[in-house]
Amino acid sequence: MRDFSKTKRIVIKIGTNTLSRSGGVNTDYVRDVAGQIASLVSAGKQIVLVTSGAIGMGAGRLKLPGPITEMEMRQACAAIGQPLLMAEYHEAFASFGLICSQVLLTAEVLNNRKTYLNLRKAMETLLRLGVVPILNENDCVSTAEIGTAFGDNDKLSALVASKLDADLLILLTDIDALYDADPRTSPDAKKIEVVFEITSAIEQAAGARVSAYSTGGMKTKIAAARIAADAGCRIVLAHGKTERVLERILAGENLGTLFMPRRKLGNRARWILNHAPEGTITIDEGAVAALRKHKSLLPSGIRGVEGRFESGSVVLLNAIAKAVTNFGSDELKSLAGKHSSEIRSLLGTGRRDVVATPEDIVFLDY
Ligand code: GLU
Repeated sequence: MRDFSKTKRIVIKIGTNTLSRSGGVNTDYVRDVAGQIASLVSAGKQIVLVTSGAIGMGAGRLKLPGPITEMEMRQACAAIGQPLLMAEYHEAFASFGLICSQVLLTAEVLNNRKTYLNLRKAMETLLRLGVVPILNENDCVSTAEIGTAFGDNDKLSALVASKLDADLLILLTDIDALYDADPRTSPDAKKIEVVFEITSAIEQAAGARVSAYSTGGMKTKIAAARIAADAGCRIVLAHGKTERVLERILAGENLGTLFMPRRKLGNRARWILNHAPEGTITIDEGAVAALRKHKSLLPSGIRGVEGRFESGSVVLLNAIAKAVTNFGSDELKSLAGKHSSEIRSLLGTGRRDVVATPEDIVFLDY
């Protein structure tokens, strides 16, 4: 389980493919997302929505088959599609009693300190009013940002998450997670549930994937994740069509891929985090609370042991932390629930008196 209970400010990005249905917006989908956002807002969360789909909607209205590559045509399509897109959102949010607003951005606006500060004030005011700001790139005027690999809404959403100090960025897409290989061509491809560090192996796993109207692909999502992670923001990449996806992510379900924010970790902690666990030790709530206060893990807090491992192995603690254990799995089974003073009588002398020290325990969240 992931813990998003303290998450307050969330940027949600929805891609063109997720939103559209044969040349137009999927109205049912927009309504469904609005409903989920409404329940998050009533639970006290602040939501900023970044939406794509303007160019696709404009192209649909003009009955143009995709992809639209000519720059002027993309500008024209965006100008036609953006108000249509907003009309859908307005109606959907209104049906849940929420007001939404349109904010169109360019890279220049974010880069310039004065306009950025202006934007920030406006956004803070909107959020204070309980309004959902809906952001998109101002595609009609910021031509450098569309149709090239440089600008896309994945990046835009990450920059916004970073500049607004969001706690979480959710990228809703048409892929259910990041895999260690391309699942369309490699049947053995495995889903990556948590990325602790965006390494070059992760970037390679992402490859490139683009489609008719949208600009991004998995590659741009990893680049976006990197921007947000560097700003201390967590990122969840998930399939936008998963039922109640937003509510379930916030409830801590392991949907999609979670990217952890970059932390200043020492070498040992990084080694522990990046090491595949060889087993799991289940510990009680008291032990979890003690570990959060940088105390050692004692045998008395252990409730169960799964897997076979030696002392010195990296193991999971309740799926919330990883640790290097001073005891092997069989030893831990006999120590579970016992007082530290009993270690000697159970296992003989010369053994450590704790299962893991604080230096050897790393929490998966922060
Ligand atoms: N801003 C573009 C649109 O609304 C989409 C950019 C992207 O797909 O990342 O159509």
